[in-house]
Amino acid sequence: MEARRAVVTGGAGFLGSYLCERLVERGTEVICMDNFLTGSPDNVAHLMGNSAFRLVECDLTGFVHVSGDVDLVLHFASAASPVDYLRHPIETLKVGSLGTLHALGLAREKGARFVLASTSEVYGDPLEHPQKEGYWGNVNPVGPRSVYDEAKRFAESLTTAYRNSHGTDTGIVRIFNTYGPRMRPHDGRAIPTFIRQALSGEPITVTGDGTQTRSICYVTDTVEGILAMADSDFEGPVNIGNPAELTMLELAETIRGLTGSSSPIEFIDRPADDPAVRRPDTSLAASRLGWKAQVEAGDGLRRTIEWFADKLSETPKAVAGR
Ligand code: NAD
Repeated sequence: MEARRAVVTGGAGFLGSYLCERLVERGTEVICMDNFLTGSPDNVAHLMGNSAFRLVECDLTGFVHVSGDVDLVLHFASAASPVDYLRHPIETLKVGSLGTLHALGLAREKGARFVLASTSEVYGDPLEHPQKEGYWGNVNPVGPRSVYDEAKRFAESLTTAYRNSHGTDTGIVRIFNTYGPRMRPHDGRAIPTFIRQALSGEPITVTGDGTQTRSICYVTDTVEGILAMADSDFEGPVNIGNPAELTMLELAETIRGLTGSSSPIEFIDRPADDPAVRRPDTSLAASRLGWKAQVEAGDGLRRTIEWFADKLSETPKAVAGR
């Protein structure tokens, strides 16, 4: 069932801004809550004049109040890129724990459906490949990435406890690497980094020997998967991602080819606990939500490169340096 009034936490971020946009397009009134830690009002500036959209500056780890009815809470607030969560480790743990508690409290108070943005990172450096929802993961609880991975694992557990103890209508989506326009050029994730480097003729920095794999999903696909989950009453967890898997070196070479760049590829150190492989099994999303990713990597990357190239020509400093 489509919601009439939704709260999107982290709505001024990359994924959140697309969710706000699509919900407004579908006729849902949206309250976007964000503290702008890693997001920006710029991401939702185009929605500002719309009476169905409201942006509220709010730290989810503090007091959260929304007046009136709410029938959907999409909980997306959290730093998501390694550069961001390593810069904000305590904030990341707080928003995954206290922030999730407050978002769940809001959903419970309003009798709303609640959808948690979890992540493929709950699988850690996986010992099963591809990853199915039944796999419990391989996470180092004291490693540098644990601030994000364990916060999300805790958030999944808290969401499940609210469902079991309070009967809250919850759903968990485990999102795999998603990319597209509006990513920040310096957020440290591979795709914006490679595109920025290729467009500015700098060396493309691939970590390790580049044989580690990822499966990349174009943002519009991910957003449709999340909304299919929001419209259902399925508890999940459910993987949302594109099963097409490629190595980091293939990704760098593809981006270099699509940009027509002559940037050299440079190999740099691989971060601690970096997963060796990552690929979703999305058969559950197909059977329960009727969803599967549609956009080929070549198409999605072309659209993303065009957006970055436009940004680069408008504000060279935004892309070339912070
Ligand atoms: P993002 O950093 O662009 O967006 C996160 C948003 O949350 C930002 O706008 C930030 O300001 C906000 N935020 C952080 N702490 C907050 C707090 N305490 N109170 C209020 N707002 C707060 O990241 P994204 O890529 O859009 O990711 C959004 C969500 O999706 C995250 O929960 C992330 O874990 C999840 N996810 C994303 C991906 C991906 O590939 N993009 C993959 C898996 C999971």
